[in-house]
Amino acid sequence: MKFDIKITKTQTPKAKPQDETSLGFGKIFTDHMFLMEYDKKNGWQNPRIVPLGPIPTHPASTVFHYGAEIFEGLKAYRAVDGNIRLFRPQENVKRLNQSAERLCLPQIDEEAGLDIIEKLVELEKDWVPHNDGTSLYIRPFVYGNDEFLGVHAVDHAVFAVICSPVGAYYKEGLKPVKIMIESDDVRAVRGGTGYAKCGGNYAASLRAGERAEQKGFSQVLWLDGVERKYIEEVGAMNVMFKINGKIVTPALTGSILPGITRKSAIELLKDWGYEVEERLISVDELFEAAANGSLEEAWGTGTAAVISPIGQLSYQGKDYTLCGGQIGELSQKLYDQLTGIQWGKVEDKKGWSVKVCNA
Ligand SMILES: *Cc1c(COP(=O)(O)O)cnc(C)c1O
Repeated sequence: MKFDIKITKTQTPKAKPQDETSLGFGKIFTDHMFLMEYDKKNGWQNPRIVPLGPIPTHPASTVFHYGAEIFEGLKAYRAVDGNIRLFRPQENVKRLNQSAERLCLPQIDEEAGLDIIEKLVELEKDWVPHNDGTSLYIRPFVYGNDEFLGVHAVDHAVFAVICSPVGAYYKEGLKPVKIMIESDDVRAVRGGTGYAKCGGNYAASLRAGERAEQKGFSQVLWLDGVERKYIEEVGAMNVMFKINGKIVTPALTGSILPGITRKSAIELLKDWGYEVEERLISVDELFEAAANGSLEEAWGTGTAAVISPIGQLSYQGKDYTLCGGQIGELSQKLYDQLTGIQWGKVEDKKGWSVKVCNA
């Protein structure tokens, strides 16, 4: 099922950014956005692409008071075959629905959700930047919109999609990052909303992120909320370790976001003959492996950076250097393969790359 999307084009298109080296992340937006509203009686209504602008919202709207909000993040790439392409976008729509289920927000038919993203990207295709490593970041989101202060699952919601041309995450090749293991704050707990991509998880994570940044770290590594000893994820990335030739990554216990880059990296690693263990891994086990030399590599996975090698971990004031502070061989290989598929530079045997339109 697809929606019949009404398109109203802007009368005042903006100039595309001239300097693609200073795009950064999420600072400028394209000319149009997708919008539709939901009400319990009629379902999703009035699907439309309109000029980007403020969305009028009642001050009692649920999203302002009770955090009823979920989102997704994916990218459109100007591939070397002359097409605009997406990477496993069906997975994003599926995950949006899983997040919706957790927060009692309305779900969207998968085919319709994918079609909405494709139609908007096609309309905005000239906004997909050209420089190496640049892309068009797509941000679908759903929020609860009852004009009611009672605490209740919503009867009204809005689905919107906005797009932002973003710069290359790495301008001078992969770069190892310094990570601080957080021992006070927790991001999520089992039974909570950790597996949902919701704004509330981010609100809870900001304080630790700020503290880490002030100390010169780029991100926080979260521990589980109950025993405070099992590794969960790094900032907005999943995390993987190469220990004694095997790959170990935290199991999806409910408090960890099921990353699409994580899932893709696991598939590739298995294809390449690596044993991949999805299980609990404690900080003690990790530091023991670091101390006896069996911890060979560590990296984060996520749509923004794709692969982010970890060069240093800090825990309760002690620093551990990983992989000699260098980029590991496997981190680099995963990065090259995943970005190769995204930009159409290597053969896509998995059918992960989806053509939207000619560039
Ligand atoms: C989005 C996100 C990730 C990465 O997911 P991808 O699908 O790989 O982009 C990891 N952790 C958190 C908390 C996230 O929000």
